[in-house]
Amino acid sequence: MNQLAVWAVEALLLAVAFYVFLRFVRRTRGSRLVRGLATALLVGAVGLWGLTTGLELTELGHILENVTGYAVIVMVIVFQPELRRAVTQLGENKFSSSNAGPIATTTLEELAQAAREMSLRRHGALIAIECESPLDTYVESGVRVDAPVGRMMLESIFHPGGALHDGAVVVRGDRLAAALCLFPLTESLSIQRSTGTRHRAALGITEETDAVALVVSEETGLVSVCRRGQMRAGVPHDDIERALAQALGAGEGVGTPRRERGRGLAARIADGAELVRRDFAWMGFAMLLGVAVVALAWRDLVEEEPRTLRLVSVAPSSTQTPANGELLVRLPADDYQLAGAPTFAVQVVVTGSRGQLDRLGDQLAGEVALPEDLLADGGAGTVLLNEDDVRWRRLGPGLRLSWAAEAPELRLERIGSRTVQWRPQHLVLDTAALDPRFSMSLEQARFVPASTGLRGPLGVLERLDSGELEVALERIVVSTDASRRVVRRLDLAEHLRNMGLVLEGGARVEVDIPVLAARRDVEGLTREVALVCLDPERADELGSWVLPAHAQTARFSITTQGLIPASLAPGEPAMLAHATSVRHFVEENLRVYVDLAELPADGSGRSVPVRWTWRSDWRASLPAALNIDARRLAGYESLEVQLESEAEVLLEPSGAPRPSRDP
Ligand code: ATP
Ligand code: MG
Repeated sequence: MNQLAVWAVEALLLAVAFYVFLRFVRRTRGSRLVRGLATALLVGAVGLWGLTTGLELTELGHILENVTGYAVIVMVIVFQPELRRAVTQLGENKFSSSNAGPIATTTLEELAQAAREMSLRRHGALIAIECESPLDTYVESGVRVDAPVGRMMLESIFHPGGALHDGAVVVRGDRLAAALCLFPLTESLSIQRSTGTRHRAALGITEETDAVALVVSEETGLVSVCRRGQMRAGVPHDDIERALAQALGAGEGVGTPRRERGRGLAARIADGAELVRRDFAWMGFAMLLGVAVVALAWRDLVEEEPRTLRLVSVAPSSTQTPANGELLVRLPADDYQLAGAPTFAVQVVVTGSRGQLDRLGDQLAGEVALPEDLLADGGAGTVLLNEDDVRWRRLGPGLRLSWAAEAPELRLERIGSRTVQWRPQHLVLDTAALDPRFSMSLEQARFVPASTGLRGPLGVLERLDSGELEVALERIVVSTDASRRVVRRLDLAEHLRNMGLVLEGGARVEVDIPVLAARRDVEGLTREVALVCLDPERADELGSWVLPAHAQTARFSITTQGLIPASLAPGEPAMLAHATSVRHFVEENLRVYVDLAELPADGSGRSVPVRWTWRSDWRASLPAALNIDARRLAGYESLEVQLESEAEVLLEPSGAPRPSRDP
């Protein structure tokens, strides 16, 4: 069942119980008492309680909580007669009606006749006829009679000066139950001031119960019939019997026609509807109480809630206070720390009412200082954390806290520090993703700062000293598009941090590693050297010179950078294929020449340098030939050739020796 439905059913059941109780009390003690009681309940319990929780008047709320139990006991004592009667009636299966049976017509005749007689004689009388509400309380206030209802009997009871004439008579069924009874006086303000006590008592009893009262006035002789706090005064003598019958049968105000009380279903439904109409306010009130009690009970329902707290340790002199959700452990000395991971979590269970837990929210925090005697045997001892030693924050009255499992065991270890000069060997690189055309130059890595303090347990530091363990920074995973440099801020390697080592002050080391394009040499080649003259004015000199046989070709070596993966070994087919593509490009595009225009015009020399140019830029076609996506070129790849043969050519005159200018 869904939670809302459960609450609804609970509230409804409580409302029914409240309604039955209120109705019962109302019938036996009168509605004024119940109204007072209900108001007290609503204002006292619900109102005050709501106020204390709403405004967080914790102490008052605490007192109220404790008082509630006593309030129930007081109620039981106050309503002890009702409860006893209720239990007896339960046994007699007469819970819902009084022990009055139906009233015989003859009884009504006797009553009417007696009233007429007394009216004529001006004898005052007050008679209450019991209906559903038991009049036991009033019977007990008088003198028990228990005689059949008879006019003689009534007349003699109310005969002025008689022993029983003062007070009222209660008729139960066809019998006179008691005389000399005292009824409550009405406090209604709507009646005349001059109305005497007898008539006030008649109205009072009919307000408090559903009895019908018959009054004969001593002063005026008028006969009145009362029902439900209303009086029909001056009933004509020949109408008394009918008026009584109507009042008894109608179940409503005097004067409404008698309704036949059939046993049929329709009649019962009508009765029920009538009850709802009449008692609507009471039912609503009972429902309100039910809802309020369920709501209060829900707030008070004790629940257990697991919480996780981070364990944070601080130096003894630290002024740090725990943040929400933290358990702050103050260490006994500066050169100690908690063994194990630098931070870990503690599981606790908080027990309290729903309302208290809600108010706590996520604000739980605690603080504990570890005792100094822990350091006695070199600090190797462990301490079991006791929840009572912790100063818990926001753990108000009523909330309890306990460890979820065993108490956390804390162990201290002595710590020391070392200084590490950062070097390339402290780096752990994962270059799997890096484009193989590039490589990282670890030797050129720069570290900022160049050295850092390292803190940790002495044992671990000693292993570092002996070389058993090595300092390492976090692993660097190089991404595919790293092309110029890789810059990272690194902490210690995880396995070292797990041993309790930390970089002093929580520092990070910034590493800057250049990324280089891989240089690959490709087997060189020989190109023909052309004899040209780039100065049109001296073009006629072309016929005068020839290249000597040994200088008609030039040899070049080829170096590439960032074009061939560094990973390929020389001689490997893939490497050969790359080399062939490069050589092919060079063969197609490298133009080698000597320029006659560079000869001194005065004929003082005949040596010219070997020059070369590219017919087209390698970027246009070579990357595609090498299967490199041109968009992924980093911009500093290169293709270079170096002349390996003679850089200068000594030109020879063609055919006939050149005419000498010198005489
Ligand atoms: P009447 O018209 O008969 O004079 P009244 O309404 O003026 O009636 P009183 O004159 O005060 O009333 O009548 C007093 C009598 O009423 C008392 O002697 C007593 O018998 C009866 N009486 C007064 N108070 C109560 C009471 N609380 N319960 C029962 N009877 C009462
Ligand atoms: Mg009077």
